[in-house]
Order: sequence, then C-alpha cells, then structure tokens
Amino acid sequence: MADKKVNPFEEMKKMVDMAGKRLGLDAGVLEVLKHPKRELHVNFPVRMDDGSIKIFTGYRVQHNEARGPYKGGIRYHQNVDIDEVRALAAWMTWKTAVVGIPYGGAKGGIIANPKTMSVGEIERMTRRYASEISIVIGPHKDIPAPDVNTSGREMAWIMDTYSMQKGYSIPGVITGKPLNIGGSLGRPEATSRGLVFCVREAAKRTGMDLKGATCAIQGYGNVGAFAHKLIERDFGSKVIAVTDSKGGIINEKGLRYDDVWAHKQKTGSVVGFPGSKPISNEAILELKVDVLLPCALENVITKDNAGKIKAKIVGEGANGPTTVDADAIMWKNKVLVLPDIMANAGGVTVSYFEWVQDLANYFWTEDAPGGRFISLLSSEKRVSSCGSPMRYHRP
Ligand code: GLU
Repeated sequence: MADKKVNPFEEMKKMVDMAGKRLGLDAGVLEVLKHPKRELHVNFPVRMDDGSIKIFTGYRVQHNEARGPYKGGIRYHQNVDIDEVRALAAWMTWKTAVVGIPYGGAKGGIIANPKTMSVGEIERMTRRYASEISIVIGPHKDIPAPDVNTSGREMAWIMDTYSMQKGYSIPGVITGKPLNIGGSLGRPEATSRGLVFCVREAAKRTGMDLKGATCAIQGYGNVGAFAHKLIERDFGSKVIAVTDSKGGIINEKGLRYDDVWAHKQKTGSVVGFPGSKPISNEAILELKVDVLLPCALENVITKDNAGKIKAKIVGEGANGPTTVDADAIMWKNKVLVLPDIMANAGGVTVSYFEWVQDLANYFWTEDAPGGRFISLLSSEKRVSSCGSPMRYHRP
C-alpha cells in the first residue's frame, strides 16, 4: 500500500531543508535536526507456539530531547525499517513542538506482522523487546506509546516488563495504557478527536458545511475507526468509503460507524460489509469526496497519484502519508492538506496528560484536565466521551 520506493527519512530531511530555508535557520541547526541523536537496534529471540525460536529485529530511535524527554509510539509491521523509524522519530519532535508539550521525539518498531501471530507470541515478543529497550526508556527519559498495530494491551505488557525489572510499578514509563493501570480517559480516541477538530476548523475557514459532507477514510485501526465515529456523530458527515489492510468498501449512500465497526469486530475486516461494493486502498484516495482522511501508513499520496486527488480537504491521520512532491502538486491544485504533525497530534497531547497524571498519581475526569480528582476504582467514570466503555482493544 505505502510506496516503498520513497524513503521516509529522505523525505523528512527534504522537509527540514524546506522549512529551515523559509525560517532562515542556521545550517548547523538544520544538520542537528536531520540527525537522530541515538538509535538502538535489537535482535532478540522469541519462543513461538510450535516450540521453535524466532529472531525478531526491533528499533528505538531517539531523535531530539531539547524540549523534554523523548516521546513516541511503537509500531509492529512487516515493513518497518530503520529509515522509517528515523523519520517517524523526527516527526514526533516537530509534533510535540507544534502542540507545545514538553517532549522531544522518538519512535520504535519491530519488524513483525502481528496479524499472523498468536496472542501468546505477541506477548512474548513485546515483553522481550521491552526488556531490550529498557536501557534507553524511562519515565523521565523516553516514554513510548501505541502506534500502528499496537494498543493498550501491548502498553500494559511493556509497563509490566519495565516495572518488573525495577521492582515497583512505574506507569509513567509508557502512555496509551488501559485505564485501570494508569491510563487516561480520552486517550483511545484522542488522535481522531484532534483530527476531526482540525477538519472542523479547516471546513469553517473554507466555507464547507460538514453536515452531509462526504468523507473517505483509508485505514480502520485506532485512528481511522474513531475518526469515522466522531465525524459522523459530531458533524453529521457522510462516510462513503473506508479501507483496512485487507481491502475496502464503498456505499455512496453512506456507511454507518456502528454497523461497520460491528462487522469488523465479527470478521476481522471491513471487507464484505453488507450492501457495500469493494474498493482498493489506492482507489479510495482518488474518490470525489469533500474530506479524505489517510489514516494508515506513510507515502500513500505520491507524485504519481497526487494529481488525481479530488478531495477538498485532506486530513493526515497517519504519519507522513503525503510525500514532498505530492504536497506541492496538491497545493497547486488547491487541495487543502492538514499536515500530520498538527492533524494527528491529539494522541500525543492526551499521552502528555496521561503521563502527568501518572507522575502525580492524581487522575482527572475527562472534561477537566488538571482539575478534578477521580478514583481509579470508580468504574462508572471509565466511560469515554464516545459513550462506550473503554476497552483497550476497541478503537
Ligand atoms: N503514535 C502516536 C503518534 O504518532 C502517539 C505517540 C504518543 O502518544 O507518544 O503520534
């Protein structure tokens, strides 16, 4: 799906050069920003269910810590490579700066396809990786979080593995955790909420009425699925197409979140949703819709398809979905692109609130960050504003 011919690290450096020129930044500062400060490569063994031992490769790249501890997610994907993780780490540095939270930028990843692994295998892989990277992470050093194919479940294993080594519970080492071990209300849907807020503001400024506006969403993980829910529920927009890694669906009359989500829960994919026609991950990008939300992987809009994007607003829920060349083409075509480092920054923003709550051992209600104390034991409070009990596997 993502164009592997485009190297995300090179893309990141091109963007730094362009932004640096515009800002008149010192050449030396630009060099600093183009180099990750520290990279850890780990090869580690995992006992598979059939009794064999498999070696996995993982990374943790720490890009910059000038503004605070390193911060950024961990992704599991068969196409993870070091240059991708380097770019993602740098984007976290810009992202935390854009929203003004006191963090630097980092990212981690394991080359693995968890969709082909059992839960036990994923747990053993996660715990061993956590143990390997524990030498560089910590609540005041580097705080990981979920990313592609990871969720609260994996965060809980990582927190536990780290805590086991220290001998006491350290929730502040990681964010995106389940609520009952120090997660934050609002975190699971935070990335999507930030994304739809950005779309709302863009619509206001361009005179678009989001009520009834058509929308297509590429990617139906945590970001894409919650974006569907929120844009439909809060703005009355009509989502006509969605895709996931297995394929996609389209229905010009609209796809309702509750039904699509229930279908995905039941079958493992959006594919085959009753009443819909199939659509590919490539074709969804070129639909004539008001709002396009690429919420999957990087480099999906390149110079090859940028000229065919017909959406009025593109909200980057994914990190790096648009290449530098594609950006220029869409700018010329008056497609308004809401850049990832702003559009998907809601996730790390609430990660920051989670971390602050963990460090203070003081937990807030969802509507009063920094304000009202709630007991971790009061289960009736553990309901997200999306109206559903927050379970860490549910986007
Ligand atoms: N993986 C998410 C991102 O790319 C969240 C990072 C975090 O919460 O630290 O922004």
